[in-house]
Amino acid sequence: IKPVTAPNTARSDALFERAKKLIPGGVNSPVRAFKAVGGTPRFVQRAQGAYFWDADGQRYIDYIGSWGPMILGHGHPTVVEAVQKAVLEGFSYGAPTEREVELAEEIVKLLPSIEMLRLVSSGTEATMSVIRLARGATGRSKIIKFEGCYHGHSDALLVKAGSGLATFGSPTSAGVPPEVVQHTLVLEYNHIAQLEEAFSLHGKDIACLMIEPIAGNMNFVRASIPFMKRCRELCTQYGALLVFDEVMTGFRVALGGAQSLYAQSIPGFKPDMTALGKVIGGGMPMAAFGGTRAVMELLAPLGSVYQAGTLSGNPVATACGLATLREIQKPGFYDALGARTRDLVQGLTQAAAQAGVPFCGDSEGGMFGFFLLGQLPQNYATVMTTDGPAFNRFYHAMLAGGVYYAPALYEAGFVSAAHSAQDIAETVSVARDAFNSLST
Ligand code: PMP
Repeated sequence: IKPVTAPNTARSDALFERAKKLIPGGVNSPVRAFKAVGGTPRFVQRAQGAYFWDADGQRYIDYIGSWGPMILGHGHPTVVEAVQKAVLEGFSYGAPTEREVELAEEIVKLLPSIEMLRLVSSGTEATMSVIRLARGATGRSKIIKFEGCYHGHSDALLVKAGSGLATFGSPTSAGVPPEVVQHTLVLEYNHIAQLEEAFSLHGKDIACLMIEPIAGNMNFVRASIPFMKRCRELCTQYGALLVFDEVMTGFRVALGGAQSLYAQSIPGFKPDMTALGKVIGGGMPMAAFGGTRAVMELLAPLGSVYQAGTLSGNPVATACGLATLREIQKPGFYDALGARTRDLVQGLTQAAAQAGVPFCGDSEGGMFGFFLLGQLPQNYATVMTTDGPAFNRFYHAMLAGGVYYAPALYEAGFVSAAHSAQDIAETVSVARDAFNSLST
C-alpha cells in the first residue's frame, strides 16, 4: 500500500485564512468550504480540459466541473473563441439580442416539452420563478417537493421533511418564516403510496410537483419509472403542473435531458415545465425555465405573473451557452461521454471489491454517483446511512492523489468530454490505494 502523502496546501491555507476574514466561511457557496470532510479547500488558479491547478501548483483531475456546467471540459477552444468575440461586442445591454433568440430556438429544438422559455441567471431563479408561475397558472398555493432534492435556495423550497408521512415541512434555514413554507409538502422520494396519499388529501390545492428526475443533490438517485409514471398521472388527474428540475440533468445525462429517458419507458411522457441551468451556460451565469405556451404566456409582459432580471439573457453568457450546446450535438457525443463515465464507475467498483470495501455506483451520460454502501439507495434517508468518517478518509486519500470530486457524500460527480481513458485509469489507480487504506 502506497502511503498517502500529505498534500502541500500552504498557499490555499493562507488564502483560506484571508478569505475567512471577509467572506463568511471563506467561500461564496457553502459546500466549497470542505466543512463536511474537513481540511483546506483548494483555491483554484486555473483550469484546462479535465484538470485544474490549485494555488500551490498541484494538478487535480476535476470531477466537479463547476458542479456540472463544464461538460466539454475547461477552456474548450470553440467556446473560448465565442466568448472572446462576444466580450469585444459588450458585456451587457439590458436590451434584447439575437443570441437570446438563437439559444431559445436551440433549447426548444432539443427539449420538445418546452414550447416557450425565459432565460435567467441561476438555477435558483429558474425554480423560484416556476413556482410563482405554477401558482399563478393554477390559482393554487401548495407545492410538492421531495426530501433530498435541492432546487436552489429560494424560501419556499428550503424545506426539510417533518416527521411522519406526508407532512408539511419546517424551514431548513434560519430566516425562512414557517408561514412561507406552510404550503410546501415534503414527501419521500420514490414512495408511491405516500404520493398517492398526498394527492388524495390535498390534490385540488396543489399547484405543482417539483422533482429532480435523477436526484444529484443526494448523490445519484433515480426516480423509478413506476414512481415517475404515477407523478405524471396524479398531476394530470388533479390539474397540477409536473415540473422537472433539470438544472443538473439537462444536457448532462442525455441530449434530451432526463425527460427523454423517461419518455423511452413511459409512452408520451412529458413534464409540463422544466428548469434548466448549468450546461446551458457552459460555465457562465445562465439558466432558464420553460414549458407549455399556455402557461408561459402568463408571464409579464404578456400576463400577470411578474418575473424579471437585469442580467437575464446576458450576451456573453448566451455566447458561451450556444457554443457549448452546438458542441454537444455532434454525433456520438453522449455515447462517448456515457461510456467514459461508465468506465469510471466500473473501475471504482472493481477497485473497491478487490479491497473488500462495500461500494456501489451508477451513472447516466456524464453524471455519476457512488456510495460506500452495498446497494444503491432509493431515497435520502438511505443515502445518509453512508459511513461518513469512512467517506471522509476516502475523500482525502483521493484528493492527496490528485483526484477532485465533491467534498460531501450527498453530491453527484461529473465527467466531461475532456476526460481521457488515461485520466480514468489514473483515477482508478488512486482509488485502489484509497480503498486499501480504508480496509486496513
Ligand atoms: N436545482 C438543482 C437540481 C441544482 O442542482 C441546483 C444547484 N446545484 C439548483 C437548482 C440551483 O442552481 P443555482 O446554484 O444555479 O442557483
